[in-house]
Amino acid sequence: MATSEENTATVSAEVDAFVEANWSPELTVGEWWARLAKAGLSHPMLPPPWGRGYPRDLASAVSASLGRNGAIGGPGGIGSALTAPTLLAHGRPDLVDRLMPGILDGQEGWCQLFSEPGAGSDLAGLQTRAVRDGDEWVVTGQKVWTSTGQHADWGILIARTDPDAPKHAGITYFAIPMHQPGVDVRPLREMTGRALFNEVFLDGARVPHANVIGEVNGGWKVANTTLTVERTGIGGGGGSFSAAAPGTVAGHLARRAGDFVGHRASLDVGSVGRSTFAMLRQLASERGLAGEPVVRQELALLYTHLEIVRMTGQRAKAGGARTGGEGNLAKLRMTELVRQGRHLVGRLLGPDATLWGTEAPSRGQLQEMIVFSPAPSIYGGTDEVQRNIIGERVLGLPKEPGSDRDTPFRDLLVGTQR
Ligand SMILES: Cc1cc2nc3c(=O)[nH]c(=O)nc-3n(C[C@H](O)[C@H](O)[C@H](O)COP(=O)(O)OP(=O)(O)OC[C@H]3O[C@@H](n4cnc5c(N)ncnc54)[C@H](O)[C@@H]3O)c2cc1C
Repeated sequence: MATSEENTATVSAEVDAFVEANWSPELTVGEWWARLAKAGLSHPMLPPPWGRGYPRDLASAVSASLGRNGAIGGPGGIGSALTAPTLLAHGRPDLVDRLMPGILDGQEGWCQLFSEPGAGSDLAGLQTRAVRDGDEWVVTGQKVWTSTGQHADWGILIARTDPDAPKHAGITYFAIPMHQPGVDVRPLREMTGRALFNEVFLDGARVPHANVIGEVNGGWKVANTTLTVERTGIGGGGGSFSAAAPGTVAGHLARRAGDFVGHRASLDVGSVGRSTFAMLRQLASERGLAGEPVVRQELALLYTHLEIVRMTGQRAKAGGARTGGEGNLAKLRMTELVRQGRHLVGRLLGPDATLWGTEAPSRGQLQEMIVFSPAPSIYGGTDEVQRNIIGERVLGLPKEPGSDRDTPFRDLLVGTQR
């Protein structure tokens, strides 16, 4: 049987040859992504025919080979991270066949329409309504914190379709087209200065019934697949995708692919991994702090935690007993690493941590990491919510008392029904 090193070497050699035969920086982003998708290399962890069914280490070998050969990675974003795995787990074959190609070759961008002003941690308390009208559903309500909504062609939407059922039982999961008169996307500015996320107002927006993912009123189960995939992904750190944005709105598809080469070298501000550690160690040396006992101790602590995370991942891969809480634990570990990283950045930069922009030390990247650092412990479900899930679903602790699990949704005091 081939060893893991042999498999990695085989995959690397194949991707090296693929890049040699197919890549040119003069291709458009759209042309290159089409070639990657055709070869099953755009998202190699997805099962065939969409990907290669590779485990994470082989998928990393694909990314590494693309980077080493000067090519950009496949399209990232919500489509590949959340829609594709959810669709493959719950979508009818015709819907999978219709939607997957645009995700894999990046022609269509996606957003996640889950959170509402009154429904974040209590997601099942959502109030956006979808009412059946012939072959379509008519959607009315408000979503918020919708990352990349301003660039999305499609949204994964959960909406209430039976207010007489208990709150978890009356929700349906849809793939909704974003470019229509009933959808109004308004960007929200964050303290990083960027507008990553948006408010989305849905006023009589229409979704074909054929775009229901899973069963009508069975959307909570489907949403849980998305949330599990999301938490596991956040816990695994940033993906190895291109900095080019998928979809028709961002305008990257027609641009020269070579213009996006090297962008992966910039810091992923939402996670801390080996590259962040290397950057911090180098910064400590540059600022003459590498011999400082407290700095050494904090660097050693961060390195130790990164190693523990790596080994825990290996143990899970080696078939250790699974608890079902792996995604929640991974996400909690990542938010803790981000807090540790932020603390260390502050210690290393001192007053320079307050400087902003590309002329600041670290080209402003580490400063942005500090300002962004509260976000990972909120998105994908807050740290408190992860701990509740681990307590209830993994450790078997009693659920929080309350009558809201069996009461018809319309009788609950949630959101504007209060
Ligand atoms: C950068 C960023 C990007 C995001 N992108 C998206 C996106 O693309 N799509 C999307 O749908 N959503 C997105 N979100 C929203 C995110 O999922 C929610 O913010 C999150 O689930 C928390 O909900 P909330 O903000 O309503 O806070 P609340 O639910 O109001 O929570 C407020 C506080 O109370 C605590 N709390 C609440 N309930 C409990 C409980 N039962 N036990 C203990 N503590 C509790 C929480 O932990 C938190 O500290 C994003 C958020 C951020 C910050």
